[in-house]
Amino acid sequence: MRAIFSKILHSTYAMSKAVVIIGAGWAGLPLAHKLLKHTLPKIKEGLKVILVSPNTQFYWNVAAVRGVIPGAIPDEKLFLPIEPGFAQYDPDKFEFVLGRATSFDLEINTLKATKNDGTQRSIPYDQLVIATGSQILSNLPFKPIGTHEETISALHSLQQQIGKSKTIVIAGAGPTGVETAGELAAAYGGNKEITLIISGKHVLQASEVLPSVTQVVEKDLEKLGVKLIHEARVKEVHTAESQDADPKTSLNLSNGATAAADLYLPLFGVQVNTSFVPTSLLDSARNLDLDPTMRVKGTENVWGIGDVGNIEAKQLTVTDAQIIHLAAALDCVLTGNSGQVKEYKPSSKKMIFITMGKKYATGQIGNWRLWGWLTAYVKGRMLFVDTAEGYVGGKHLRHAAM
Ligand SMILES: Cc1cc2nc3c(=O)[nH]c(=O)nc-3n(C[C@H](O)[C@H](O)[C@H](O)COP(=O)(O)OP(=O)(O)OC[C@H]3O[C@@H](n4cnc5c(N)ncnc54)[C@H](O)[C@@H]3O)c2cc1C
Repeated sequence: MRAIFSKILHSTYAMSKAVVIIGAGWAGLPLAHKLLKHTLPKIKEGLKVILVSPNTQFYWNVAAVRGVIPGAIPDEKLFLPIEPGFAQYDPDKFEFVLGRATSFDLEINTLKATKNDGTQRSIPYDQLVIATGSQILSNLPFKPIGTHEETISALHSLQQQIGKSKTIVIAGAGPTGVETAGELAAAYGGNKEITLIISGKHVLQASEVLPSVTQVVEKDLEKLGVKLIHEARVKEVHTAESQDADPKTSLNLSNGATAAADLYLPLFGVQVNTSFVPTSLLDSARNLDLDPTMRVKGTENVWGIGDVGNIEAKQLTVTDAQIIHLAAALDCVLTGNSGQVKEYKPSSKKMIFITMGKKYATGQIGNWRLWGWLTAYVKGRMLFVDTAEGYVGGKHLRHAAM
């Protein structure tokens, strides 16, 4: 019965092959462009790329750490429309499904999605790519949190809260917490009190950077006026009922201290977007469990890329290489050369760039600590917003050709 159902579904797509990509983020969006540009012309029976995403706009979230400050970055630089970039291809070969994947059936190779208008859609696939990324545990809008409208409305509300708060406490001293604290302090100087709560002995502990990098970051934050509280976690959060209460939030910390804030930003923890994936395909941390070729273990035609997978750090510094690899692997499979799919070589070099406002920055490549002025010039000045149009438009990867 299922096989018959599968046949009927597939016949509606004629004979052309279908690659369904779930998630139009940093990894999924350029992968769709790459397949349409380079693989489509090689497939005699035709190829259709179907991109499933709840967001009409691409969120340039690298700049969100500054974008949360009211007026710092215009909306149109932070959010770029996805569909115009695909107008360059034959409309029969590409489809954008505005919705969210809800499940998929490995037996009949079919994805189920709920469109943003509430209707259901079954989408048969030959190859399925999961590129649904991750979110901050607290669901603050530093990443897409739902539809574009939901994300931008949450961002505007956060901008307002930041604008009117005099005291802001950030918990979580990973890159997002550190950069947000630095950006806020750089923008507001002594006009707002910014506190960063660090669970470990130092900032960026989980990123395993050089001790000299953590030292520079902590010194820079202090120069900017950020108050650092080491070796403490937020245990309890009490929010006042009245909007006029001063302060609005009081925090009990694991070291016995308390902290008060008009605004509390929990910026720790990452949650991968895999709720629609069968548990058998996930590792114990709910990442997609990938084999060395980036195929999901135990499947023949399901692949994972970006933050959602478990082969590399959850960072943009690795996405170019993953996109190039997976595009080549899918090219092999779709052109009948499955035997030529290679293993992906994860980067063995630590690569991280930390900016705190436009002036203060540092970073690491391998065992080399980067000069602050260089990192500030490359990243801190613009947070790469000047490259967004070409990236979202499918013209280039971050540091490689399309
Ligand atoms: C504030 C911030 C700043 C950062 N800055 C840096 C930096 O400077 N350098 C760096 O290396 N890394 C940085 N990162 C990390 C970087 O953002 C991630 O590595 C990157 O987003 C991963 O890209 P991705 O495509 O895998 O996933 P994502 O960017 O998370 O994209 C996934 C997409 O899938 C969609 N999606 C989710 N669920 C579904 C579903 N069920 N169906 C359909 N679509 C779905 C989402 O809406 C989203 O559009 C930063 C992260 C944050 C939070």
